[in-house]
Amino acid sequence: MQYKIHTTPIWDAFKKDCLCPMCELNEQLSTRLVDRFLNEAVMVPTSRQLVNKYGFCSHHYDLLLMGDNILGVALQSITRTEHLQNILKPPVNAKTAKKQAEMLLKESMSCIICREMEEIMDRYYMTVANMYYNEPPFMKVLNDSQGFCLYHYAKLLENAHYARSKTEQFLECIYSVEITKLSKLKSDLNSFTEKFDYQKKDIPWGTSKDSPLRASKILTHRKI
Ligand SMILES: [Zn+2]
Ligand SMILES: [Zn+2]
Repeated sequence: MQYKIHTTPIWDAFKKDCLCPMCELNEQLSTRLVDRFLNEAVMVPTSRQLVNKYGFCSHHYDLLLMGDNILGVALQSITRTEHLQNILKPPVNAKTAKKQAEMLLKESMSCIICREMEEIMDRYYMTVANMYYNEPPFMKVLNDSQGFCLYHYAKLLENAHYARSKTEQFLECIYSVEITKLSKLKSDLNSFTEKFDYQKKDIPWGTSKDSPLRASKILTHRKI
C-alpha cells in the first residue's frame, strides 16, 4: 500500500508534458509544503520547533510572503529570530568570529521546506528506479520520456541501483533520453541564434523560440 502511495504522483508527473518530471514532482511538493507552513503547521508545536531550528531559505520565504497568511509568517519569524538571538554570541576575537561566521552562514541558508523536500525527493528517485524494475509499463513510459534537467538526471544516476537486476538497462534508457534531450536543446539554440542573422531572419521559429529559457531550466539546479 505504501508503495502505491508513492508511485501515483510519479505516474502523473511522467504523463505530463513538461521539461522534467522530477522538477514537476519537486514543484508539487514545494506548493504543498508552503501551504502547510502557511496553515496547520503554524500552530503545531513540533513544526514550530523545526522552523525555529532551520528557518526558511529566501526562496521559500518569498513564496510564503506571497501566500495568504502574513500573520503566520510573522509568528514563525518571531520564534526563529529568538532562536538566532540565543545562538548569537559576542565575537571576542578573529578565531571565534570565524567559527560564528561558519555556523551563521549555514543558518542563513538552511530551510525546513528544502529539507523536507529533499527527504521526499530522495524517496522518489529510488522509487523511479524501482518502478523500472517492478512495473513493466513504466519501462515504456521512461523510454518514451523527454528526459530530465541535469540535476535530476544526476540524481537518477545516483539511485540507479534500485532498478536491481535491470540497473544497466535503466542506465541505458535514461542516458538515451537525456542525450537526445541535449541534442534537441542544442539544435533549437542553434536555430534561435540563426534568427539573428539578417539573411535567415525569415526562417520560421519552429520549436526554437523559447530555447534560451529551456536551457536555463534544463542545465541548472532550480530552486522551486
Ligand atoms: Zn528536474
Ligand atoms: Zn527552502
